[in-house]
Amino acid sequence: MSIKSSLFSFIFTLCSLCLSFGQEQAEIPVQKVYKEELSEMTSKNMVRAAMAYIKETDSITLQDHIHLTEIPAPPFKEEIRAKEFLKMLNQIGVDSAWIDAEGNVLALRKGKTGKRTIALDAHLDTVFPEGTDVKVSFNKDTLFAPGIGDDTRGLAMVLTVLRAMNEMNIPTEDDILFIGTVGEEGLGDLRGVKFLFSGQGPKIDAWISIDGGDLGRVNFKGLGSYRYRVVFKGPGGHSWGAFGLANPHHALAAGINHFVHEADKYTKDGPRTSYNIGRMGGGTSVNSIPFSSWAEIDIRSHRPERLDDMEKILKAAMHKGLEEQNAIRRHGRPLTVEVEMIGNRPSGELSPDLPLIQKALATVEHFGIKPAITRGSTNSNTPISMGIPAVTIGRGGKAAWAHSLLEWWADEEGYKASQYALLLLLAEAGIGD
Ligand SMILES: [Zn+2]
Repeated sequence: MSIKSSLFSFIFTLCSLCLSFGQEQAEIPVQKVYKEELSEMTSKNMVRAAMAYIKETDSITLQDHIHLTEIPAPPFKEEIRAKEFLKMLNQIGVDSAWIDAEGNVLALRKGKTGKRTIALDAHLDTVFPEGTDVKVSFNKDTLFAPGIGDDTRGLAMVLTVLRAMNEMNIPTEDDILFIGTVGEEGLGDLRGVKFLFSGQGPKIDAWISIDGGDLGRVNFKGLGSYRYRVVFKGPGGHSWGAFGLANPHHALAAGINHFVHEADKYTKDGPRTSYNIGRMGGGTSVNSIPFSSWAEIDIRSHRPERLDDMEKILKAAMHKGLEEQNAIRRHGRPLTVEVEMIGNRPSGELSPDLPLIQKALATVEHFGIKPAITRGSTNSNTPISMGIPAVTIGRGGKAAWAHSLLEWWADEEGYKASQYALLLLLAEAGIGD
């Protein structure tokens, strides 16, 4: 395999964890009180000035965007980009800033009362392995580089929102945390945001992630997923000389057959649930009984209890395959099987009547467009699953080919998404005047 094709296969492995931007619901009514609140807020001089500032300083956002994109941030190796992001937050100015034990960057801007804490987040990591060329190239307003849209644009927007608030001296009631999280992508398995909500991070009362999607994305439903690696092991031996030994491939094949049969029955009805055997392997040669056989499985559902049910179906099917193969072996020791969870993204959804969601919808409408309600697999899944107000909003502009080397982002009124993030953050944190 060429370097390029092996890189592609690595990326597409990680891509199994891609975001889902699937649009969910046509329209949710926005309550009058939130529309009125927003129009009152946007009529304030300092807010108007901050909105204008974001538009006028679009080139600074773009510089930050390019600068951060060109610092590689492979999964589990975000430190260099994290340090630079911390430095940039400090340069713009916050009350305090630090990198936590998991590697997340946090910058605190204190509010007047500080009764609540609102987080504005983008993720530091990309799906791309070390050695990927992350130099940005240009074609007019279009920027090409791995990670340019997902989610480095989000990081630049976090900086821009903070800069606009500082430049226009906008005080808030609540404290605000500007955050760059680690481990959103792939096998990172949301480790950054999970750490923040594990009790080891600061108290966070509302969470806004910028990640993927156009201006107008309002994602307050988490698509949950469980991921597993199943491994059958046995002694292995010569296909002729040791014939009669239990064969791990035969056991795995039987296990998969039972799983697909039962999973098909289960997923035909009820809240949408999917299953996929994504990768399989093992064995050394055609004339050897393998000593191991493995498969990786992805299960997704709108509902957490459905994921738990599917786990039971998977485990039962694999043990049935194991028992059947062990029962027909003619000699040698029995096979073993291990079903290991390698990924767990929580699911759940919030009420569209929550103030944060209503404010997000009202803010989208302020830009004269219709909200795109989505269910996704993003950092917001974690707070959503805990019932903490959370929403993932779009990084704006136009983009395509996320998680591929061909990724691009076009600055089509890209500044509007930063303006949107600012308004939503201010609406949730309250202006402290
Ligand atoms: Zn992302």
